[in-house]
Amino acid sequence: MNAGPVILIVEDDKAMIRVLTTSLEAEGDRVLDASTGQHAIEEVRTRNPDLVLLDLGLPDGDGVSLVPQIRANTTSPIIVVSARDQEADKVKALDAGANDYLTKPFSIPELLARIRVGVRSRTHVGNTGQTAVCFGDYRLDLESRRLTKGKRPIRMSHTEVKLLSTLARHADEVVTTKALLKEVWGSAYQTHPGYVRVYMHALRHKIEADPTRPKYLLHEVGLGYRLRTSASPRASGDGRRPRDANAA
Ligand code: CA
Repeated sequence: MNAGPVILIVEDDKAMIRVLTTSLEAEGDRVLDASTGQHAIEEVRTRNPDLVLLDLGLPDGDGVSLVPQIRANTTSPIIVVSARDQEADKVKALDAGANDYLTKPFSIPELLARIRVGVRSRTHVGNTGQTAVCFGDYRLDLESRRLTKGKRPIRMSHTEVKLLSTLARHADEVVTTKALLKEVWGSAYQTHPGYVRVYMHALRHKIEADPTRPKYLLHEVGLGYRLRTSASPRASGDGRRPRDANAA
């Protein structure tokens, strides 16, 4: 029996469950599956999986409404899987506590990479209390709130530090613009996406070699932002680089 992390697949498509189970088990993961929302909650409550892969299209109701119910029962990463016509649901799911998303059809290697990132973020940032996040030559100390490049400190404003720290605490995951506004500026500012754009522009100019083609501070169009560390599956270049590189 595999001793790896326990992955819960919430999916009503049996063929999909079979394919995913085979792939995950080959990687050393243990797999649970649930084909309904109710069963999923039960599994989360009783088996405490290390990661939940949640299909938003379930027969017994709205997958999005499951996200807060799962989140209420676990701190494990939740990756939502949606069809292309569920864009709005994806944002709702991220705002409700999901950590990442994939759009169907997705490639199995990308899914496995995302799962590895999710499990790793839980193991290290979650359980060992890691307080620094590294990307490229940069190191952000989340306690002292200092950013250094090699030995050289990078000066940042209070707001810039808060914004970068929020992204770093969710390294390699999408953080929605709304969540960033709430976290950095407060809940009263959630309808002011321009704030995020302005500060992201400033951060890119301090951090990126070429701010118009960012390597680390990525915009996920229509969703939010992602701090890419070298560990990210995106680092391999899958042709989905940010399309808005010049927008900020
Ligand atoms: Ca489905």
